[in-house]
Amino acid sequence: MKQVVILGYPLMHSVSPAFQQAAFDHLGLGVTYNAWETEPADLEAALERLRQDLFLGANVTIPHKEATLAHMDDVDKAARDIGAVNTVVRRDGRLIGYNTDYEGFLRALRVPMPSVMGKRAILLGAGGAARAVGYALVRESIGTLVIANRNRQRAEALAKQLWRFHSVRTMTVPMGMDDPRLPEAINRCHLLVNATPVGMAHTTAEGQTPVPQGWLASRTIVFDLVYNPERTALLQAAMAAGAKAWGGLDMLVHQGALSFELWTGQPAPLAVMFKAAREALGQ
Ligand code: NAP
Repeated sequence: MKQVVILGYPLMHSVSPAFQQAAFDHLGLGVTYNAWETEPADLEAALERLRQDLFLGANVTIPHKEATLAHMDDVDKAARDIGAVNTVVRRDGRLIGYNTDYEGFLRALRVPMPSVMGKRAILLGAGGAARAVGYALVRESIGTLVIANRNRQRAEALAKQLWRFHSVRTMTVPMGMDDPRLPEAINRCHLLVNATPVGMAHTTAEGQTPVPQGWLASRTIVFDLVYNPERTALLQAAMAAGAKAWGGLDMLVHQGALSFELWTGQPAPLAVMFKAAREALGQ
């Protein structure tokens, strides 16, 4: 019996164990997927344990994606460029770090927006998920990327980093509700991505939207990385504004499917994973 684990803190509401276990069981691979709730001080020891034969690898989630990078024997180029690891694969006792968030995001985005080339997007947030989304958008030749984050310095650092990779036009605007630059920037964008946890169930920002309905235009595609609830307050505002609204569940399952394929070398049973994820979320 082999094992895969997820390392994060807290992990109580993670749906990854439900849909990853369903995938392993469906293919009869004899693998168990376990949640290891791991405080930051215990991360290094948890990663060391993964070197044992028993393990195929791990998923890594908040708050460990950046810290994990330093403990890998090797890191895939995309994960290194993004600066975060969400998937660890054990090969011959060595730990290799990958990032499947960016490709998972692109696979999910392709449905509402088949190409971002030359388009204008605004990204809310500048944390780990925003870095993966920003990387995905500049790699796909977005025309202009505007970043808005509570901590403006973090937004500026991300904008600079992304510009260095692909020389795409990047800029920042303040996140403040009283500053006209944010609604102006939103109004001019084809795509808005929420990469903050605002609206996420079981958090203090549950039920809230990072931007009000009045700022959204009907031509904008609104993609919320938050996947619980299925229809966040932001997505409801987008629909009320006549915009196309897309939730984070597709990205969640696609990034998980890519991790599954890295651990097993087999195609992930996507339909099984989607069904199990929806059931775990009570959808
Ligand atoms: P993170 O690294 O902790 O970053 C959080 C970001 O959100 C930061 O930019 C932070 O701003 C901002 N933020 C936090 N609380 C805020 C608030 N009340 N108002 C405005 N901005 C706020 O987290 P992460 O890993 O990037 O994850 C962000 C969200 O994406 C989470 O809800 C996570 O579940 C979701 N996510 C979904 C998927 C998926 O597959 N669907 C994948 C990854 C992440 P400051 O810099 O100012 O603190």
